[in-house]
Amino acid sequence: MARETTDFRGIVIYRRDYRERDLLVKMLTDRIGPAMFYIRDGKKRGFRMASDLLPFTHGTYIGSLADDGLSFINTASETHQYQQIAGDLSKNAYASYILSLVDHAFTDNRPLGGWFDQVAAALELINHGRDEQVVTNVLETQLLAVFGVAPTWQHCVVCGQSDGPLDFSEQYGGMLCSRHWYLDPHRFHLDRRTVYYLQQFAGLNFQRVNNIKINPQTKRRLQLTLDTIYDDQVGLHLKSKRFIQQMNRLEQKMGNLGMND
Ligand SMILES: [Zn+2]
Repeated sequence: MARETTDFRGIVIYRRDYRERDLLVKMLTDRIGPAMFYIRDGKKRGFRMASDLLPFTHGTYIGSLADDGLSFINTASETHQYQQIAGDLSKNAYASYILSLVDHAFTDNRPLGGWFDQVAAALELINHGRDEQVVTNVLETQLLAVFGVAPTWQHCVVCGQSDGPLDFSEQYGGMLCSRHWYLDPHRFHLDRRTVYYLQQFAGLNFQRVNNIKINPQTKRRLQLTLDTIYDDQVGLHLKSKRFIQQMNRLEQKMGNLGMND
């Protein structure tokens, strides 16, 4: 197995203790996608790379990348923590979910094309105060293709019509125009605004987004739509996702009781 010492960009996905004093750190890398790093003495007090490997840290590292098994980091050249994400419960929850989703979407130790930049841009936007749910929904929409679900968002899957109302059908793997709604009694009954945003999300490049503002009702519909597609067609049940759902339910309850400020 060839190993070459190289520099790479990485984002810490998670870390776990290994043996007495070592650490395993899972990172998303720009060169070989998700990869597990073995960090000798990583738990020792005063370990020199301690702050470079904290959760929600990203930066440039130098090490040897394996095409199979564990990789190694020799040194970190420049790292930063997403401070706002690390210090905020909701941002933290969505960023954890994004990283976990990406970890499941891509094969370890394999290049992932432009996805590293897309994920880094998403985390950067959340860290700069953009709506974390919306940013996450954009990535969820786009990652569907990686999970092997590639819905047709832009036009009716039967006749190709793109103007006039469209609605989503899981059975047909995409949008149906009103003339073809009769084909699927279980179509989602989406309103035009939700359809519009799903279409936008599918092709959005984060690096060119300045601000996305969506009203709370549409946000709930978008989340429900994506949750349904993920539950039914991807079949992924992530702990970080459950946590977000619990958090949102609690927030709604508090809202109903007038406890939100
Ligand atoms: Zn049609």
